[in-house]
Amino acid sequence: MRESKDFLRTIVEEDLKSGKYREVITRFPPEPNGFPHIGHAKSICINFGIASDYHGHCNLRMDDTNPTKEDTQYVEALKDAVEWLGFDWGNNVFFTSDYFPKLYDYATQLIKMGKAYVDSLTEEEIRQYRGTVTQAGKRSKYGDRSIEENLDLFERMKKGEFKDGEHVLRARIDMSAANMKMRDPLLYRIRHAHHFRAGDEWSIYPMYDFAHCLADYIEGISHSICTLEFENNRDIYDWVLDTLGLTMSRPYQYEFARLGINYTVMSKRKLLELVKGGQVSGWDDPRMPTIAGYRRRGYTAESILNFCDQIGIAKANSMVDVAQLEFCIRDDLNTKVPRVMCVLDPLKVTIENYNGSEEIDASYYPHDVPKEGSRKLPFSREIYIERDDFIENPPKGYFRLTPKQPVRLRHAYIISCKEIIKDANGNVTEIKAEYYPESKSGSDTSSIKIKSAIQWVSAKEAKAVEVRLYDRLFANEAPEGVEDINPDSLKVIKNALIEPAVITDRLDERFQFERQGYFYADPTLYTDENPVFNKIVSLKDSWSKKRKVIPEVLISKIPKVQIDGEVVPMSEAEQALFDKYTGELKLNSEIANTLARDKNLSSFYEEALKQLDSPVGLANIVSNEVARELKVREVSQLKFNAKQISELVKMVDDETISSKIAKQVFEQMAKSGENPIQIVETKGLIQINDPSKILPIIDEVIAKNPDNVAKFKAGNGKLLGFFVGQVLKTTGGKANPKIVNELVVEKLKS
Ligand code: ATP
Ligand code: MG
Repeated sequence: MRESKDFLRTIVEEDLKSGKYREVITRFPPEPNGFPHIGHAKSICINFGIASDYHGHCNLRMDDTNPTKEDTQYVEALKDAVEWLGFDWGNNVFFTSDYFPKLYDYATQLIKMGKAYVDSLTEEEIRQYRGTVTQAGKRSKYGDRSIEENLDLFERMKKGEFKDGEHVLRARIDMSAANMKMRDPLLYRIRHAHHFRAGDEWSIYPMYDFAHCLADYIEGISHSICTLEFENNRDIYDWVLDTLGLTMSRPYQYEFARLGINYTVMSKRKLLELVKGGQVSGWDDPRMPTIAGYRRRGYTAESILNFCDQIGIAKANSMVDVAQLEFCIRDDLNTKVPRVMCVLDPLKVTIENYNGSEEIDASYYPHDVPKEGSRKLPFSREIYIERDDFIENPPKGYFRLTPKQPVRLRHAYIISCKEIIKDANGNVTEIKAEYYPESKSGSDTSSIKIKSAIQWVSAKEAKAVEVRLYDRLFANEAPEGVEDINPDSLKVIKNALIEPAVITDRLDERFQFERQGYFYADPTLYTDENPVFNKIVSLKDSWSKKRKVIPEVLISKIPKVQIDGEVVPMSEAEQALFDKYTGELKLNSEIANTLARDKNLSSFYEEALKQLDSPVGLANIVSNEVARELKVREVSQLKFNAKQISELVKMVDDETISSKIAKQVFEQMAKSGENPIQIVETKGLIQINDPSKILPIIDEVIAKNPDNVAKFKAGNGKLLGFFVGQVLKTTGGKANPKIVNELVVEKLKS
C-alpha cells in the first residue's frame, strides 16, 4: 500500500478502525452516454484502488437514468476500460435501472410521509419560484395537495397518462434553504422514451439526486466518492437517506477534485460532438483523450495508472499539464521496449567503397545491459538515411552528416560524404559516400571523430510501413471543443522504411524508433502486408519550447540527457566519472550515464559510497529513487542524506529487507525524514527468510488455486511467477523472493 495517505484513505481507515463499517465498499458510477476519458481513469483508480487497498470491493454501476442518451455500446466501452486498467469488479456490475421498482417504492414512501409532492408548474415557473442566492424561494401552490392526490398523480405519471413536463415529483424540504439545491429538489420527471435496458416500461425517470444515494444504499456502499461539483448535492443525499430512515451503516458522500488537463477536452458530450462531426475517426481515435484512444495510440495501462498516482487526490480543482501524462508513458516505455531503426523521410546513400553485404548483430536494448535480445541488421552498399540527417550547408552546432563531417551509422560504420546528387530543382536526391572498414561499432579502431550516430536501413531489405504521426488534438491550452481543433494533429506517412526484423520478428507491439519516438503497431489496421504504426509520443517534450511558462516541477521532469537528435557531449569531468563507474565500479552504462551527467546525483552517490562499499546497490537507488526526488526538489530540501541511503542499501545487502520493501522504506524516508533502520523496526518490515514461516503460506496459496496447480503440473511454467507473486503479496512483500522461488518450485514438483 502507498505510504503517503490521501484524505480519502485517511477517512476510510478511520471508519474501519472505529468499526463504522466492516468492509469498505465503493463504486464507480458512470453514465453510459459516451466512452470514458482520462478523467474517468482517475475516478476508477480512486474507487477501485481504495477498495483494493483496504480489502473491500468496488462495484461497477451504470448510472443509466437518462434514457435518451444511453446505449449498450457505452456500457461495453466502460467495462473494457476498467478491465484494461487492471481492475476487477468481480460479479458486481449493476445498473441503476434495475432499481427502478425499488426507487419507485421509496418515492411512494416519501409521499406517504408528506415529504414529497407532485408539482405541476412549468419548468420556467419552477425556476422563478426557486428564488435566488440572496432571496428565499416560495413553494408552489401544488405543494398543498393531499397525500392521496399525490399518490394518485404519481401512479398515473408512471402509467404514462401525462405528457413530458406536465408534472414532476419534488421533495418537500425548504424553499428558503441557503443551499439552493435543497429548495424542494426534483425527484422524478416524465419522459416518454425508450430505455436501452428497461424498455418502454417506465414513463418516469428518477433524477440523479434521488437515484444515486439510494442506489448506493441498496448496494451497501460505505464511501460514495464523487467529484467536487456534487458538494452541494450532499445535503440532498443525506436528506433522502435520513428521511427514509435508511441509517444503518448507510453510505456517506465525499468529494475530490476533478481532473483537468490542458490542451484536452474532458466531457463526454463534447467528445461525442467530435465523433459525430467526423473530426476524429471514432471514440478510439488515437488522438482522443478517451481510455480507448490512449490504448489504441499505444499508451500502456501502467503509464495511466502511474499518472493517476502522481497527480494524487486533492480537494481543490487544478489543471494538470499534459506533458506530465506524456512523461509517464515515456518513462514506462524507456527501458521496456526494443529500440529499432525506421527512416520516415528516406534519402538514398550509396556507399561506393562497400561491395557485398553483411548482417550486423545489434541489441534490441542497447541502453539496458542486463536485458538480452538482438536482431540481425542487413547492411549493404545502398542504404537510406533520414533526409534531415544531411545538410549541405549546416548551421553551427549541426552534428550529423555534412560534406565535411562524417557520421556514424548506428550499430554499423562511420561514413563520410563524397558527392551530392541533385535533381533539376536543386533538391538533394542521393549521397555518394565512403565508409571506413575499421570503424565498425563495437570494434572501432579508427580514430575518426564523429559527433553523432544516425539511423538507417538497408535499401534492399527494408520494409515499407505506414506511420501515423499525432500531434495534440487541440491547439488551445484550454479548448472548448470543435473550434479549437489543431488542423495538423494527424500526419500520415505512407512509405517510411523500417528494418526488416521489426516486421518479421515482431518482438513486441511497441518500439522505440531510435531518435524518432515511441511507436505502436495499430491494433486495428496493422497487417503483415500493410503494417501501420502509431506514434505514441516523442522522445522528449517538444512542446515545452513552444510554451511560454512551464511549471517548475515539469521543467525538471524533462529528461536532462537529450535523447533526440544529438547527444550532448559529456564534459571531461563527467566523462571521467562515467569511465570510473562503468569500469572500476561495474555499473551498467545507462545508470553510469544518469549519474555522471548530473552533478547532484554523482555527489550524492560518491558521498554514499564513502559510507558503504556497495557500488551497484547504491547506484540503483540513487539513479532511480533519489533521482526521482531530485526532479521535484532541491538537494537542500531532501529529508534524507547519503548516510541514511547507505544504511538502507546495507539492509538490502545483508538481506534484512527485500529490495521491494526498500522502496517502501525509501518513500517513508523521503516523506518524514525518519531513519531507515527505525522505519524497518517500527513497521516490522524485516525480511522473512525462514522457510518454516514461508512454507505454510505456500501451502495456503496452493490449496486456494487448484486449477493453476494443475495447469502448472501440465507444463505451464509461466504460472511459477503467479505462485511466487501470491506468496509475496500475502507477506506484504516481506518474504525473500529467492527463497520463496526455491520453495515454490520444490513444493510444486513434489
Ligand atoms: P462527463 O462530463 O465527461 O460526462 P461526468 O462526470 O458526467 O463526466 P459520469 O459518467 O457521470 O461522467 O462520471 C462517472 C464518475 O467519474 C463520476 O464519479 C465522476 O465524478 C467521475 N469523473 C468524471 N469526470 C471526471 C474527471 N475529469 N476527473 C475525475 N473524475 C471524473
Ligand atoms: Mg455527465
